[in-house]
Amino acid sequence: MEQSREIFGTPVVSGMAYAPALWVVRPAVPSPSAPSLPDSERPAAFEAYVSAAQAVSDRLLARGEVTIGQTSDVLKMTAALAKDRGIRKEVGKLIAQGVPAVQALVRATDHFIDLFLKAGGLMAERVTDLRDVRDRVVAELEGRPEPGVPAPATPSILLADDLAPADTAGLDPHLIVAIATERGGPTSHTAIIARQLGIPCIVAVRHLSEISEGEAVLLDGARGALMMGCAAEGARELVARDRVWRDSLASWRGPGATKDGTRIQLLVNVQDGLTATKAAESQAEGVGLFRTELSFLDADTEPSFEEQKKIYGEVFQTFPESKVVVRTLDAGSDKPIVYANLDHEDNPALGVRGLRITGRNPELLSHQLDAIAAAAQGRPEGSTWVMAPMVSTLSETRWFAQEVRSRGLTAGIMVEVPAVAILAPRFLELVDFVSIGTNDLTQYTMAADRLSSHLAEYTDPWQPAVLTLIAHVALAGRTVDTPVGVCGEAAADPALACVLVGMGVTSLSMASSAIAGVGAQLGAVTLAQCEEAAAAVAHADNGVQARALARAALGIG
Ligand code: PEP
Ligand code: MG
Repeated sequence: MEQSREIFGTPVVSGMAYAPALWVVRPAVPSPSAPSLPDSERPAAFEAYVSAAQAVSDRLLARGEVTIGQTSDVLKMTAALAKDRGIRKEVGKLIAQGVPAVQALVRATDHFIDLFLKAGGLMAERVTDLRDVRDRVVAELEGRPEPGVPAPATPSILLADDLAPADTAGLDPHLIVAIATERGGPTSHTAIIARQLGIPCIVAVRHLSEISEGEAVLLDGARGALMMGCAAEGARELVARDRVWRDSLASWRGPGATKDGTRIQLLVNVQDGLTATKAAESQAEGVGLFRTELSFLDADTEPSFEEQKKIYGEVFQTFPESKVVVRTLDAGSDKPIVYANLDHEDNPALGVRGLRITGRNPELLSHQLDAIAAAAQGRPEGSTWVMAPMVSTLSETRWFAQEVRSRGLTAGIMVEVPAVAILAPRFLELVDFVSIGTNDLTQYTMAADRLSSHLAEYTDPWQPAVLTLIAHVALAGRTVDTPVGVCGEAAADPALACVLVGMGVTSLSMASSAIAGVGAQLGAVTLAQCEEAAAAVAHADNGVQARALARAALGIG
């Protein structure tokens, strides 16, 4: 009998699937050199390139028109990239020098890939899009069918090195029952679309290429595991049980509590009135993170008091009686804002971002706090909480808390920098609450760029060093009876949510789509089990082991 074997990656969407593997095979990239084109053929070669790029763009756009939400946005963005003026100019220049159209495109794309990789961060993530667009336009020029995800006849688990947005957008969840990629991170396009479609998904899987085409695979999205060679009957039973569990989530009703009745506030992360309106349909008790900067990403100048008041008011309106935690401008790094940021920084994630911006420009903070206070007029006392992002010193905390309290609002800070976690008891003396931003806390603790598709093992909030810092903050909060929330992605992981509760965290804030899963999982375990899981993870060597120890303590199969 075949030996079963297991490989691991970073979990993105939980859920189980058992099906044959279906590999996305990328076409070979043509050699960038070829005999020079005679002068007379150069204009036609450029024409051919322009119409091939147009055809690819039109097809992507047509798919974008019949889809909605992020799927549609992603397709439209890729369609625009196919006709990108910078690429066209570079291709035109090369063709004019006698390089044939295909080779000109390959070379132009390589040039932009280089630039994007040097820029790092979000730009580097777009390299996959560039390669995808190149492959599509080359296929069009050579008269081959457009590359992409093969359409399987039976339900399959899609495996790929990395998936381009246009590959993932519009996948049929009845035929592609799970996704695993060798690269990609928790914030990659693959992850975003998989979350939206609810397809179990794992990224950054080591040794994925060892799985052969057609081989039966059991994928466990929650554990980030792929198992091969397991007994078919047992695997199907696990998938069926998981389906029952996932169906039961639809009927979960709040408020959040453990099985034995310990209450945990489950809150939502929002970015504007629209997302808040959608979130209000969930069982959330309020807003745990209002990312105000996301409303200003396109603004060239600072929005006026009235404009800001309107934006904040729209979120308050959707949760009129409940707690809303507003985060002041977190500009910088992966969220640059023209009017707030420095023009250039060599290392923006460690640069002038978040609260540090207001050190140089304190009016930005006072204008924002004035608008928040005005928009919050008439709300129940104590229901409007305001916190600062990217805090690292006691003096800036003192100053921020004073500014917030002087406007009658509740003052807090985010714990995103290890310096704050390490001195948690001293920071807690200065504020009314703290909220742990595990995305950045993990990035800074592990010294690993949260956007890198190569570092998923490091940017994992289950890393024992990160969990130790969180436990330290939670204990400090419990000692002085000050609320400690978590609002990073970690709060949306049902098993990790239980661990956080076991550590003493008092509220969890997450995307509204995650509320039912976390609520149902918490309701299935006792506080003692959560505490046992929290104690167990302290002994783990790495993220994978921490997950396994916690799941064992929580009795999750
Ligand atoms: C975090 O860092 O965990 C967080 C919630 O903030 P953001 O993801 O917006 O940086
Ligand atoms: Mg953050």
